Amino acid sequence: MPQEKEKHVTIDFAFRRELDQIIGGDHHNYCYQCGACVAQCPAAQYSESFNPRSILLDALLGRADVLLGPDSPIWLCTNCYSCYERCPQDVRPIEVIIALKNLASNRDAAPSDVATMTENILKTGVSGLITPAVQRIRESLGLKPLGDYPVDEMLKILPDEGKQP
Ligand code: SF4
Ligand code: SF4
Repeated sequence: MPQEKEKHVTIDFAFRRELDQIIGGDHHNYCYQCGACVAQCPAAQYSESFNPRSILLDALLGRADVLLGPDSPIWLCTNCYSCYERCPQDVRPIEVIIALKNLASNRDAAPSDVATMTENILKTGVSGLITPAVQRIRESLGLKPLGDYPVDEMLKILPDEGKQP
C-alpha cells in the first residue's frame, strides 16, 4: 500500500509579527480555535465563505495570501462585535479583523471601494462624496451643510497620513 505523504504547514511568523504591531492585532495569539465566535456571527450565517474562527486560524498560520488577497473574507465582517462578547480568550476577533483591514490598507490591498472611502475621509473628513445634490437635500431637511470638518486636525493624529504635505 502506498504510504501517505507527510503534510507540512509553514507558519509565516514575519506576517504574525507585523500583525502584532497593529492595534488589536496582537490578540490573535490567544486564539485556541474553540469556535465560540462563530455561533452568533451574522456574517457566518449568511455567507459560507466567512468564518471568524477560520480567519483567526489563517492569522495564526500567517497566511497573508488568504487574509490580504483579492478574495479575502475579512471585508464581509459586519462589525457587530458579537464575537468580541462571545470569545472566552479575549481574542476580540472583530479587532483582529479590523487590524487585518488596516494592514491590507497599508499594503494597498484593500478593495477599491474601501480605498476610495479612505481617500474621501482623508480629503473631506467623511467617507462619501459631498455633492451639491447631497447639500441640497440636507438643506431641504433642515440639516446643516457637510464639509466643515477640521481635516488638518485629524491628519495630525494619523501617524502616517499626518506626514503628508
Ligand atoms: S477567536 Fe475566541 S471564540 Fe473564536 S475560535 Fe478563537 S478563542 Fe474561540
Ligand atoms: S464582528 Fe464580524 S466576525 Fe464578529 S460576529 Fe460580527 S460579523 Fe462576525
